[in-house]
Amino acid sequence: MSTDAMVEVRGVHKSFGTLEVLRGVDLSVPAGSVTVILGPSGSGKSTLLRSINHLEKLDRGVVSIDGELIGYRRVGDRLHELREREVLRQRTRIGYVFQNFNLFPHLTVLENITEAPISALGRPKAQARESALELLARVGLADKAQAYPRQLSGGQQQRVAIARALALEPKVLLFDEPTSALDPELVGEVLEVIKGLAGSGTTMIVVTHEIGFAREVADTVVFMDGGVVVEQGSAAQVLDAPQHARTRAFLAKVL
Ligand code: ADP
Ligand code: MG
Repeated sequence: MSTDAMVEVRGVHKSFGTLEVLRGVDLSVPAGSVTVILGPSGSGKSTLLRSINHLEKLDRGVVSIDGELIGYRRVGDRLHELREREVLRQRTRIGYVFQNFNLFPHLTVLENITEAPISALGRPKAQARESALELLARVGLADKAQAYPRQLSGGQQQRVAIARALALEPKVLLFDEPTSALDPELVGEVLEVIKGLAGSGTTMIVVTHEIGFAREVADTVVFMDGGVVVEQGSAAQVLDAPQHARTRAFLAKVL
């Protein structure tokens, strides 16, 4: 495996019953780069993200992050599944931002961000709090530390969710349609925060239908359909000069 890849996905297959959702996916994400995944609904994008952090158990193939196999360890030429607590340890370094924010409703914004660093990483409370306040400033919400999620707009909640993911100092941030549950006028503020992270060298994989965002921010655009990567390349290559009819048909619908 190449040494500068932060995320390596090799030959990943995943079925649910008789439905083969991932049919041999390969993906290599260099450290510090942004990969945007496009594709029609049902093409396997969420399943791929879930496979990367081992929320789905793979039928075949491997995922590694920063050179470490996820969910397995290699013994000779065999793969042994890791124990749940080992997988949880790996997952703490894989940030995940969901479509629906998934904040804890009974915790304040600050508590939402400090909970995992304190409980999963054993950070001292004062230190976790200090970093959380810095992260809140970074996503433009320094004044909302004591608010509860229900008091925030969807865009603000998603910015808190991003700060919460960053608090674990992830090796990679996975975004699954982070703006698709938002009212149109709130999409921009969330994309701006993600763009800012891109500028700061965070490795990211972003599933989105926001083509303008892909054009501006993506180092690599990946088009998935039917459980495979149909094509990938720079935004200019994939968006302006797609090689495959399926990519062209998809872009004709979303552009
Ligand atoms: P996308 O995110 O590209 O819309 P998904 O990865 O969510 O696609 O889903 C791909 C296909 O797999 C869909 O047909 C979906 O219904 C199916 N699927 C996803 N998760 C499950 C599951 N846990 N059990 C059964 N089918 C699933
Ligand atoms: Mg999805």
